[in-house]
Amino acid sequence: MKKLRLILGDQLNSQHSWLEEVDENTIYLMAEMRQETDYVKHHIQKVVAFFLSMRNFSSELQSKGHEVVYFKISSENNLHDLEKIITTCVEEHNITKFEYQLPDEYRLDTQLKTICSNLKIETKAFDTEHFYTSRNELTEFFEGKKLLLMENFYRMMRKKHHVLMKGSQPEGDQWNFDKDNRLKYKGQDPIPNAATFNQNVEELLEELEKADVTTFGKINVKNFNWPTSRKECLEQLDYFCKNLLIHFGDYEDAMHTDEKFLFHSRLSFAMNSKMLSPKEVVETVVAFYHKNQDEIAISQVEGFVRQVLGWREYVRGIYWKEMPNYSKMNELENQNKLPDFYWTGKTKMNCMQKSISQSLEEAYAHHIQRLMIIGNFSLLTQMHPDDVDAWYLGVYIDAIEWVELPNTRGMSQYADGGILATKPYVSSGSYINKMSNYCASCHYKVKDKFGDKACPFNTLYWNFLDEKKHYFANNQRMGMMLNMLKKMNPDELAKINEKAHHIIENLDQY
Ligand code: FAD
Ligand code: SF4
Repeated sequence: MKKLRLILGDQLNSQHSWLEEVDENTIYLMAEMRQETDYVKHHIQKVVAFFLSMRNFSSELQSKGHEVVYFKISSENNLHDLEKIITTCVEEHNITKFEYQLPDEYRLDTQLKTICSNLKIETKAFDTEHFYTSRNELTEFFEGKKLLLMENFYRMMRKKHHVLMKGSQPEGDQWNFDKDNRLKYKGQDPIPNAATFNQNVEELLEELEKADVTTFGKINVKNFNWPTSRKECLEQLDYFCKNLLIHFGDYEDAMHTDEKFLFHSRLSFAMNSKMLSPKEVVETVVAFYHKNQDEIAISQVEGFVRQVLGWREYVRGIYWKEMPNYSKMNELENQNKLPDFYWTGKTKMNCMQKSISQSLEEAYAHHIQRLMIIGNFSLLTQMHPDDVDAWYLGVYIDAIEWVELPNTRGMSQYADGGILATKPYVSSGSYINKMSNYCASCHYKVKDKFGDKACPFNTLYWNFLDEKKHYFANNQRMGMMLNMLKKMNPDELAKINEKAHHIIENLDQY
């Protein structure tokens, strides 16, 4: 029997049981395909990071004695379409059995099922052995429940996997230290320099250019700095534990003009490509905390565990529970188009300028920039969720649909009508001013609601609540905001609405 085993670009799990033994009758298939570079316009760093990691993974497999058929983007015999590549390989290598690991994206899941039904040989799907949860675990956990509260799911996960537990009780006698994790960053704790990998990616860029792959964003050709092998990913994890964990929770929600990364781990690409598993990340971080408990507070480590064991598994579960309808939802019926400055960063709003420019330069923004700056602005200006989704799916190094979509369409744009978040994440300028130093050097005045220099977030916020209030009539968590809106002077509100419409219609002037 000759087996063909497919490994997709985000299935670079060198710990997978497939790879425990070398079998001379098994061929591993990997391909850099146009169907993957073109389903959305990607940031150049995202394409480079995936292709470099795939090449490193293939070399690692070959060095261990596995046979790999690898199609580079520049290979002349690359057919660039998954079905054609698989069918041709099956014929050329006299394959009698095709195996694949369950993809995490609905689009690829559907495609692979079709491919298998068209193949005339035996086929079999395997688990990726990456996540803590199976695809349907969240659906089963919330069976019969109206609210899919992340906190309930997270506590179940802590107990089930015995993470930060003392018997049946949470370590530190509290499940959640969110309240301690809201410090503003004022330079009080020095941020160590980032871990460096400094790869020269000239050759790959030439290949991409020759293949005419269209991308956007910037890249440092001689110093590409994302980890693209298991060894480098482990280095990044080690770096995080030794340098950043100590203040991870403190500044989780902070933003600063001079600090793009603060104390964030930048481990999302390493995990989403599956070079690191969430379990080894959580276990390493918790073990490091236990060894250094006199220096590191529980609030730092619990904040991190909540993101990986909680949020990451939770959004994956929501994705599989709600797809395929989720990707079309637009409960608030938003219709506007993204302005040009989402691709240039040229805007007078300092918070947007910094967050977008950083996204274009680094293919990275941290959670609060994604949620409370760019996402908040997109929702307040009532952008169509399809456009917002496409932008987020393209721009970030870690953007794969299973994690991008629930975060963007659900958490950030409330386009799912509250499946994921109990209320929309919108705010005026005052929240941004509380959590960052952006406003101090902005063209606009964060305290003003009217006038040429009024902070657009203020104007847009009240206009959003006013225009969308009927969608939230039964939402108790919006009650306070809607009461404040009701008490507003009607003339003032009319002026706000007029200004908001001017902003929305002339976004590139702002
Ligand atoms: P850290 O702040 O160091 O957090 C540690 C890890 O926790 C991350 O690496 C990530 O794996 C996990 N995590 C944290 N928050 C979330 C979350 N909400 N959902 C899932 N995992 C989480 N994350 C992606 O991996 N891919 C995306 O495409 C993506 N799109 C997003 C879009 C929007 C609008 C928002 C609000 C968030 C999005 N996130 C996405 C979640 C989060 O912003 C990123 O995981 C995080 O910024 C990655 O940087 P980091 O590794 O330094 O994270
Ligand atoms: Fe952003 Fe308004 Fe602050 Fe300017 S004043 S940085 S636009 S929140």
